[in-house]
Amino acid sequence: MEIFQPTQIYKVECLNGNTVYIKRDDLLPYSFGGNKARKASLFFKEIEVGGYNAVVTYGSGGSNHCRIVANMAAERKLICHIISPDTESNSLNRRMVEMFGAKITSCAVDKVADTIDNVINSLKKCGLKPYFIPGGGHGNIGTHAYDLAYDEIKQYEFENKLTFDFIFFASGTGTTHAGLVCGLERYGDKKQIVGISIARKNPRGKQVVLNSITDYLGYCNEDHVNFDDNYICGGYGLHNTFIDHTICRMMIEHGIPLDSTYTGKAYAGMEQYLKEHRICGKNILFIHTGGTPIFCDWLVSNT
Ligand SMILES: *Cc1c(COP(=O)(O)O)cnc(C)c1O
Repeated sequence: MEIFQPTQIYKVECLNGNTVYIKRDDLLPYSFGGNKARKASLFFKEIEVGGYNAVVTYGSGGSNHCRIVANMAAERKLICHIISPDTESNSLNRRMVEMFGAKITSCAVDKVADTIDNVINSLKKCGLKPYFIPGGGHGNIGTHAYDLAYDEIKQYEFENKLTFDFIFFASGTGTTHAGLVCGLERYGDKKQIVGISIARKNPRGKQVVLNSITDYLGYCNEDHVNFDDNYICGGYGLHNTFIDHTICRMMIEHGIPLDSTYTGKAYAGMEQYLKEHRICGKNILFIHTGGTPIFCDWLVSNT
């Protein structure tokens, strides 16, 4: 796996009188792509440069992040440990993590930090040099990945002589969100960046984004962070018939797989946001952050 090329951006449809474009980060050419591939590729550069020979990370049973990390570790023949609050999971992501030969250690949610420390220490005792990747690829390296992705968006605008008024995407840990805002600050742009929360509520959700930006830039303009928690639909992984309908519609009408935990929830949230805020006649960019294995899980459980 080498440095990725810019991912495709193209026009998909009209929503509420707006033109919606999509950026296909789900098509990053590594293990079903997604924002975790973009972030992990930078973490693995650090791993290579630092001469680490084991990788430790954290994620739920359905985690896209764990799939990517386990795959990149296996490719390099590095030992990989996944700490997870979920013992059992039938998700395709978990099955792939197992296929990549990662060692999964499950523990109670309140024991995560201790378990991570224990695993790292036991690897060191065995003479290994472990590298820890925060859950979801959170932190400055993850932020950097989407600060760089912003350049791809600018390039598209320049080549196609248009400006996006809004950027929407699924916001979880807020790292993708933070990176995009850092890109915006770098260019002094005016567009609105709207993260549709898939689980976290405010004020915490927004605060984490603000903290990530401050960590990375050394300052933060609160007005540029719009973390919207109105479309959570009850919590992480939960979805309603509107989300299900959106997933079906996008696949049937455009051949684009969205999932019920992240991108489908965010796209449906964006649709509602545009209506509720009476936004019309704008250029909208939706970033498809991946999660295709979860689309497949959804499909199997819905038929
Ligand atoms: C992890 C994930 C997100 C959320 O990204 P954050 O940077 O954690 O906010 C969105 N979409 C998909 C498909 C993901 O796997």
